[in-house]
Amino acid sequence: MRRPMVAGNWKMHGSEAANSALLSELQMRLQSQWPIDVAVFPPFVYLADVVRRLRGDAMLVGAQDVCAEAAGAFTGEVAASMLRDVGCTLVIVGHSERRRRYHEDDALVARKFGAALAAGLTPVLCVGETIEEREAERTEEVIARQLDAVLAMHSIEAFERAILAYEPVWAIGTGRNATPAQAQAVHAFLRRRLSDQNAMIGGQTRILYGGSVKASNAAELFAMADVDGGLVGGAALVADEFYQICAAAAARH
Ligand code: PEP
Repeated sequence: MRRPMVAGNWKMHGSEAANSALLSELQMRLQSQWPIDVAVFPPFVYLADVVRRLRGDAMLVGAQDVCAEAAGAFTGEVAASMLRDVGCTLVIVGHSERRRRYHEDDALVARKFGAALAAGLTPVLCVGETIEEREAERTEEVIARQLDAVLAMHSIEAFERAILAYEPVWAIGTGRNATPAQAQAVHAFLRRRLSDQNAMIGGQTRILYGGSVKASNAAELFAMADVDGGLVGGAALVADEFYQICAAAAARH
């Protein structure tokens, strides 16, 4: 059975004081016996501090991005080995904000995915279509292209140590989530695509849904057969919202 995960992408939000308040409340309320993984993804500068605060806690810590290169003259970049060194275990690659605002193409995302794996991190690979692509009925073509770029560079076996996230661009930060049926259709498509290459890996890979997940819609999204939890943005910054989303994931099993 796939273990549900709720991942909180803090994006470029937070401060030492705000992070401390948020984490303290989550630590107080999240139940350690829940059969789910909970992860937070703070900005780079707070990672080491968040890892220290969560020492001994089940909550996982990941980064929002990583450099595709291992080391060297790449001013402003952060290597996967450095993320590992400060205690991260996960990293998001290919978030639509990186693809769109920083022009990261499928090949670069695939290289970042490989850099994460090489350093012992679990990549969370984001794929998703724009509203124009959905309206043109190109959703499957677009997410297949994004996924295939990674499969071609790293092979299906890489997904034994990776997580997928379906994040329709039109649902991120807009308050307009995909319907459970829309999410399920795309998740099933992604799983079939993995399973076509290796049925066991396809069946085991966790596929998270991201895009305006909130306390009020989490349960219906997580009830879908191929939705294994959520990648949460805005609602991850509000302790009670994030707690309730985690509770919805825990109730799924
Ligand atoms: C995200 O940042 O990945 C995201 C899904 O954001 P939101 O939940 O705010 O739509």
